[in-house]
Amino acid sequence: MASITILLDKCTGCTMCVKTCPFGAIHMTDRRAVIDMAKCTLCGSCVAACRFSAIELKKSEGPARDFSAHKDVWVFCEQKKGVVQTISFELLGEGKKLAAKLGVKLCAVALGSGIDGLAATLSERGADKVYLVDHPALKDYQDDPYTEVLVKLVEEYKPEIILCGATTIGRSLGSRVAIKVNSGLTADCTGLDIDEKERQLLQTRPAFGGNIMATIVTPNHRPQMATVRHKVMKEAGIYKDNKAEVVKKTYPEETFKSRTRLIEMVEEIGETVNLSEADIIVAGGRGMGSKEGFALVGELAKVLGGAVGATRSAVDAEWIPYSHQVGQTGKTVCPKLYIACGISGQIQHLIGMQSSKVIVAINKDPDAQIFKAATYGIVGDVAEILPALTREFKRVLNK
Ligand SMILES: Cc1cc2nc3c(=O)[nH]c(=O)nc-3n(C[C@H](O)[C@H](O)[C@H](O)COP(=O)(O)OP(=O)(O)OC[C@H]3O[C@@H](n4cnc5c(N)ncnc54)[C@H](O)[C@@H]3O)c2cc1C
Repeated sequence: MASITILLDKCTGCTMCVKTCPFGAIHMTDRRAVIDMAKCTLCGSCVAACRFSAIELKKSEGPARDFSAHKDVWVFCEQKKGVVQTISFELLGEGKKLAAKLGVKLCAVALGSGIDGLAATLSERGADKVYLVDHPALKDYQDDPYTEVLVKLVEEYKPEIILCGATTIGRSLGSRVAIKVNSGLTADCTGLDIDEKERQLLQTRPAFGGNIMATIVTPNHRPQMATVRHKVMKEAGIYKDNKAEVVKKTYPEETFKSRTRLIEMVEEIGETVNLSEADIIVAGGRGMGSKEGFALVGELAKVLGGAVGATRSAVDAEWIPYSHQVGQTGKTVCPKLYIACGISGQIQHLIGMQSSKVIVAINKDPDAQIFKAATYGIVGDVAEILPALTREFKRVLNK
């Protein structure tokens, strides 16, 4: 059993532990720290913060955990209407490197209805093994049956690592499965690697508003689970001769029960190009001034056959829906061309677009941060420059 104790003879009442505790579990009584055990998670931050060594955390070592039954790297492969989504190819590409470092198999897991054909696609993308579960209830993503099936697979085959896309589906499924198999999950990773000596998955993701990159490990639980951002990893190559072993599983009917019922899938009206997949993105920020001003972004995007992106400020101002937000709490994109209009270039936005091949920034402030990330910069008013660009592209492209 682990325990935490305040050593009253050493506690000076400096309140550093109170300020440090992320869970609000410490308060002062009679100028001495008191820990509320209902809130304390034994994370140890107070121990590190106490300059008087007045907090003692004892963690029982317990018997060494045996993870020898856990092997292989799994990639949960999303499909929509029977088509594997590109995030899955990115995860297979990254998963292959991890599996090679660990000397284990790369396994693709696909759930759906009428998805037999996916085995060949996933094999071609380098999977050594493909787990398929085919049932009408799995046609479209539903939390309950997808979670239930993946948990059953994990319990039977015991993977060492599971990767899911940091997509709406992956985020929902990954966290549910992690809870049910008593593991953790690192969300929104932008980098993965292996500590080969310890067989640990090194899961890197931005933390503290994107100001630092944190590398997280899961030493005490298996499988190690992570969701990975779209467009950060390179897609797996195509290996025509690869022949994956295919494992088709069936489960009793009750496995596919769902507490929710999908009535209809409605595509967002007006979304002509998928932001995450677009080669060209024209994005607007607060500098567009108003909803009417923001329309200039859409006009240029239309002429270029591109998608419309936005900063959080533009989304918060309700000039455009959240699905267009690029950045830390929006989408990660990697187009060939990203035109940033009236965007200052805060780290939370840059994180989502800085790997674009060519970045063109338009801003009236010559010292704007965005110019540091840009390939080309135009200093000027978006209200003048955007219509001029749209006109000129229309002329050159004959539109
Ligand atoms: C936890 C957290 C998560 C976040 N997640 C995201 C995220 O996912 N995505 C995101 O974008 N932000 C995110 N943010 C917000 C982020 O910190 C910035 O506030 C936001 O990106 C700024 O948006 P902006 O560049 O549109 O606005 P501003 O910072 O206000 O910049 C507007 C720019 O427009 C320029 N400008 C003004 N008028 C004109 C004109 N007429 N012509 C040309 N230029 C002009 C100005 O010079 C300025 O540089 C997050 C913040 C936090 C704390």
